[in-house]
Amino acid sequence: MVPKLNLVQAKSILIKSGLPGADYVINPYNGCLFGCMYCYAAQIARWKHPTEEWGSYLDVKTNAPELLKKELTNLEKRLKNKNFGSIFFSSVTDPYVGMEAKYQLTRKCLEVLADFGYEGNISIQTKSPLVTKDIDVLKRLKDVTVGFTVTTLDDKVSRFLEVKAPPVSSRIEALKKLFKEGIDTYAFIGPILPYFVNSEEKINQLLDKLQQVGVKEVWFEHINLSPRIKARLFAFLKKESPELIPPFETADSEEYREKLEKIIRQAMKGRSLKMGLGKIIYHRKPRRSKLINFLGKKQIVSLPLIKNTGDRNHLL
Ligand code: SF4
Repeated sequence: MVPKLNLVQAKSILIKSGLPGADYVINPYNGCLFGCMYCYAAQIARWKHPTEEWGSYLDVKTNAPELLKKELTNLEKRLKNKNFGSIFFSSVTDPYVGMEAKYQLTRKCLEVLADFGYEGNISIQTKSPLVTKDIDVLKRLKDVTVGFTVTTLDDKVSRFLEVKAPPVSSRIEALKKLFKEGIDTYAFIGPILPYFVNSEEKINQLLDKLQQVGVKEVWFEHINLSPRIKARLFAFLKKESPELIPPFETADSEEYREKLEKIIRQAMKGRSLKMGLGKIIYHRKPRRSKLINFLGKKQIVSLPLIKNTGDRNHLL
């Protein structure tokens, strides 16, 4: 499928953020061509593209760098300093989605921040090694951290669920490169994949690898199975691998989360790794669960939702 590109003019670019750990967010693009099956941005972006399939379009905010320059100058005049808090790239796209190679909007925004002498923390989270092309600009920033979403160490699994995103092995290589270049890095293990990466062995393997490539901080996030995400994900699983539906369904239960949290806390013990926010992020309270008969087998499934809560709506 040929992606649909829309060149658009943004009205503002440095947006106040409600995300824990981020005061502002910059989205040089809207939409994402990586098309991950668990992506929550798919439902956020739908108001602009109600009928288009997630992963099939990208709005390119061509005026993002000029706009950012203007907004930084205005804020500096108002706040009388060069640190307005932390800035996060990005909340409804991947800042290094493939088209960044052509449009370079993330790079240009980082150049604007470097030229401005921005003093606050800038955090970039991506699934693409394309970020390493900007190491020269990253080095000009006063306080920058680059995070990679790493949900598995298996390229087959990343290809399956993070459909068009660069394979996880290339992300690991990029983390190594950034570390060698002296850039602070972190890993975002989110969502913690049911079935694929939820055992003590798999979590330890993942953490061992991340430490080997110089990661100092790891964020964990329970899978978000809000109705819209679940509808899209489960339609995909039903078609591609229906046997995965019960283990994914179970991941929304209280018992599952408790068990997983114990495994993670145990695996983190004795490591020189910091846990992002000091906790495992979740977006909804877990569901109570019960045993049912699914396809002839006893399975634990979730009961109706107790209450919807918001925590950090971290994206990638
Ligand atoms: S999870 Fe991130 S990389 Fe994947 S489709 Fe969503 S925005 Fe893109």
